[in-house]
Amino acid sequence: MNISQAIIDFTTLAIRSGGYMAMDRVYVQNKILALIGEETLDIDMKPSVEIDGQAISAFLIQTAKKNGQIKAGFESIFEAELMDFLTPPPSVVNAYFAEHYHQDPKEATDYFYELCCQNNYIQTSAIAKNRHFNFDCQYGQLEITINLSKPEKDPKQIALEKKLPKADYPKCLLCMENEGYLGRLNHPARTNHRLIRMNLDGESWGFQYSPYAYFNEHSIILSELHRPMKISKQTFQRLLRIVEILPHYFVGSNADLPIVGGSILSHDHYQAGRHEFPMDQAEIRQYFELPDYLGVTAGIVNWPMSVIRLSGYNVDELVEASQSIFQKWQDYSDKSIEVVAKTVDGVQHHTVTPIARRRGNQFEIDLVLRDNNVSTEYPDGIFHPHPELHHIKKENIGLIEVMGLAILPGRLKSELEKIKSYILGEIDTVAVYHQEWANQLKEAYQDADIDYYVSQALGQKFLTVLEHAGVFKDTVKGQEAFNRFIAEVIKN
Ligand SMILES: [Zn+2]
Repeated sequence: MNISQAIIDFTTLAIRSGGYMAMDRVYVQNKILALIGEETLDIDMKPSVEIDGQAISAFLIQTAKKNGQIKAGFESIFEAELMDFLTPPPSVVNAYFAEHYHQDPKEATDYFYELCCQNNYIQTSAIAKNRHFNFDCQYGQLEITINLSKPEKDPKQIALEKKLPKADYPKCLLCMENEGYLGRLNHPARTNHRLIRMNLDGESWGFQYSPYAYFNEHSIILSELHRPMKISKQTFQRLLRIVEILPHYFVGSNADLPIVGGSILSHDHYQAGRHEFPMDQAEIRQYFELPDYLGVTAGIVNWPMSVIRLSGYNVDELVEASQSIFQKWQDYSDKSIEVVAKTVDGVQHHTVTPIARRRGNQFEIDLVLRDNNVSTEYPDGIFHPHPELHHIKKENIGLIEVMGLAILPGRLKSELEKIKSYILGEIDTVAVYHQEWANQLKEAYQDADIDYYVSQALGQKFLTVLEHAGVFKDTVKGQEAFNRFIAEVIKN
C-alpha cells in the first residue's frame, strides 16, 4: 500500500463519516500526516472509490510504528486517536442521531452503532473471538459465552501501571469525562468515544455502546453524575422511560449491593441492547393478582432465579407496583430458607435486579429478588455460586447472567481442551481445581462427541450457578416459601 494513497483515502472516510466537509480535505490530510510521522504527501494521487477502512487504518498504524510515533503500551491510545478522524464531534453525532430518531428510533441506534463499529470503538474483531454455545434445560435454552475479547495485559504493562500515581480524572470508566479522553497506561483510550445525550425525567444521562459487547448492540446508559448505583422508584421510572425512548431495546440495572451487584457500583448506570435473552422467553409459572394495581398482570417466571414479572399498558401503575414489591422484599425475611432482610446492625441485604422491555404496546418489568447475606457455611454469599462452582465461576452474578447468558473467563478455553484430553485418556491430570469435575466427567463419558459432551457439562454448571443465586429454590419447599412472600405482597 502507498502511504499517500492511504492518507488520501482515509481522509475520504473521515469526510464520509460526517465530521468534515470536502473543504477540510487538505487540513485533515496534514493532520494525519503529522500523526503518523510522515512529512510529505504525493498530491497527484486520486482518491479511490472503493476503500477498505480496516486495511488502511492497519497500514497507517504500522507506518506510525515504523516512524517511532507509538511508544510501547500506547498502541490502543494511538489507534483511538487515528480513529477519531472517522468520528464526528459529540454535538454532530447527537444531531445526526436526533435526525434519524425523528424517522425511527431503530434508524438512530443503527446509525450510532455503525459509527462505533467503523471507528473501532466497538472492538468487533476481538468480540468475534468469543466462543458461544447453547444449553437446553427445563427453563429453556441458556447461552454460554467464553469471553476471549478482552486482551490480557502483559506483565510489563502491569508493572508500568503500578509505578503510576493514582489519578482521579476521569473518576471512573463510566464518567462522561471519558468522551474524547486520550487515555493513559492505566486508563483506556477514549478519543473516539461518543455519548448520546438522553433526558430522563429532567436528568441528563449518556447512552453509549460497550467496547467489548457481550450481546448484540450491548449498550450502557449512565448518569451524568458520578454517584453510586441505587435501586429506587426512580430506577423503575427511568428503565420504563428508556424502553419508551428505545422500544426495540431491553434495559436492566444491576443490583445495588455487593455480592449480588455488578462490577461497578460507584457510578449509577444501566445496560441495554438488542438481544432476546433466555429469561425473556421464559414463561409465567404462576399468575397472581395485585389488588391495588388491577391494570397490571403479575406472575412468577419459570426460572432458576426468583423472578416476578409485571406487565401492563400504564407506565405509572407499573412503577407503583414495582416499588411496592421492592419495598415488601426489602423488609421480608423467612428464616426457614435463610432469607434475612436486615441484620441486627441494620444493614440492608435485600434488593432487586430489574429489567424492562416492550411487548408490542405493553410494558414489561422483571424484578429478580436478590439477597446478599453470607453465613459461616457460605462466606462468599448464601445466594452466590457455592465453592464447588468456583473453578468455573466465582464472580458476582450480575444482570446479564441473571438473564441466562453466561460470561465465563477466557482461561476456560485452554482448560476445557485439557479436560477433553483427560477424558479421552491422552493426559493424566488437569488443573487441581478442575480435577474432581474432570474425574466425574471421565467416569460418565460414553463415546459421545467430546466437544458437545464437555460444553453440555459446562452448561449444567451454569444452570447450577443460577440455582445457587436464586433465593426461593425451584423445589416444593422453595415454591411454598415463594408463595408465602407473594401472600405478603398482595396483602393490603
Ligand atoms: Zn464515574
